[in-house]
Amino acid sequence: MSPMTPARVTGTPGRTRVLVIGGGITGLAAAHRLREHLGPDAEIIVAEQAMRLGGKIHTVEFAGRPVETGAESLLAARPEAIELARAVGLGDAIVYPSAAKPALSLGGELLDFPAGHMMGIPGDPADVAAVANAKERPDNGLPILEPGADMSVGALVRSRLGDEVLDRLVAPMLGGVYAGDVDRLSVRAVMPQLAAALERHARLTDAVNEIKRPPSGPRKPVFATIDGGLELLVTATSATARAEVRLGMTVRELRQTPYGWEVIAGPVPDPIKIKADAVILAVPASPAAVLLRDVEPQAAAALSGVAYASVALAAFAFDHVDLPERSGFLTPASEGKTVKAATFASKKWPHLGRRRQIVRVSMGRLGEEALLQYDDATLAKTALRELGEHLGRRLPEPLEQRVDRWGGALPQYAPGHDARIAAAREALGANRNIAIAGAAVDGVGIAACIASGQRAADTISMKLANRR
Ligand SMILES: Cc1cc2nc3c(=O)[nH]c(=O)nc-3n(C[C@H](O)[C@H](O)[C@H](O)COP(=O)(O)OP(=O)(O)OC[C@H]3O[C@@H](n4cnc5c(N)ncnc54)[C@H](O)[C@@H]3O)c2cc1C
Repeated sequence: MSPMTPARVTGTPGRTRVLVIGGGITGLAAAHRLREHLGPDAEIIVAEQAMRLGGKIHTVEFAGRPVETGAESLLAARPEAIELARAVGLGDAIVYPSAAKPALSLGGELLDFPAGHMMGIPGDPADVAAVANAKERPDNGLPILEPGADMSVGALVRSRLGDEVLDRLVAPMLGGVYAGDVDRLSVRAVMPQLAAALERHARLTDAVNEIKRPPSGPRKPVFATIDGGLELLVTATSATARAEVRLGMTVRELRQTPYGWEVIAGPVPDPIKIKADAVILAVPASPAAVLLRDVEPQAAAALSGVAYASVALAAFAFDHVDLPERSGFLTPASEGKTVKAATFASKKWPHLGRRRQIVRVSMGRLGEEALLQYDDATLAKTALRELGEHLGRRLPEPLEQRVDRWGGALPQYAPGHDARIAAAREALGANRNIAIAGAAVDGVGIAACIASGQRAADTISMKLANRR
């Protein structure tokens, strides 16, 4: 802020006010939980720099259907996303995928993706023998990880089960979530349950089998989505939280004061000063690091070390096209394609209807940012041509197509991530009413982000209660 520009101050004196910075699902889940804890009188402000809420969740109308340009599914195997959807009145809109399974595109063929694995790591090498040469290496009888230790997914799988399991199964699976480099992804951050099991087992397959032991009772679906689009979860969460949403409001400075926090937000020529008793930072790592630079340099350093990968998505709608009865496919980087995965959305999600076939194709891995520089037409043409190559036939002209770019959208948790974030949280201190949350720190998936936002709200509410 220029010293010459007086900042406008907003707020009602005497009421507890919490400022949530970032209007993605993390910030909104935090706002929702804050409302539950703090009651109707608290002021909960959500400052969002974009002109819409949702961040990486964005539903658009495409070929007459609500189609996701970013995230498309909720992990239903853990409770947070489904419970939030129910809590904000969307229980009846929760829908589940069909029984169609994804394929592995290898050597120009669509093969069944083997069953019985955890993120591509088999519980028995024989389970994946059809697509990868896997043989468990001899072990030394000691647990693979010491308590609290970490290693990269690449180093773990390559040393225990060999290159093909890593390159053909694990890398494409993790690539679908992180678009990352398996040699730079932390086992503890991306597969925390496996990391815990590795502290007890000398064999990787034993650790995998311990985790994937089938639960008793009926099998529950692993994924879900919202009929009408995931953006409904965004708007319903925001409405239920009764937060004061400020769109187009970039928070640029964060300062600690004797009573709490003061932020400078809004456009540089017309800044707004917002005072708050507490702050929840629910933004990606880079803006979080900038905001924390003067508040707590150690926390800022931990956040600025989180790298991000970029992806582009092309969506196509076809009137008549014969797609395989699969939910889509993944393909290893060794196949040399730009397309790394495709979802046959209308096969995967019955609620989208089958009259029109909708296919979403994702492109880009860590280090392939230059891809995003191509214009839409070039990206769509590449995606369509390669889609045809994967399917073994030339595809007709689509009825509609669109390209969406997500630059720097997917955080990469390097080995040691969890320990660095824990240290950052400790440095931020028990006596300061500030919390960090979201995909930058606690997990990329929507369910993990919701859990992270809720935990931040629990922490802040408790601190505010203790202050009274
Ligand atoms: C292409 C793609 C597909 C995905 N698919 C899935 C999927 O199918 N299932 C799944 O579970 N997850 C998926 N994910 C991951 C998931 O969508 C995200 O990790 C999650 O939505 C992140 O939520 P968030 O609130 O932590 O962050 P974001 O969604 O990034 O929200 C942060 C918000 O902060 C705002 N902001 C940033 N700086 C400031 C500032 N200074 N002041 C104010 N506001 C600011 C941003 O504009 C943004 O709206 C996908 C992600 C991408 C990119």
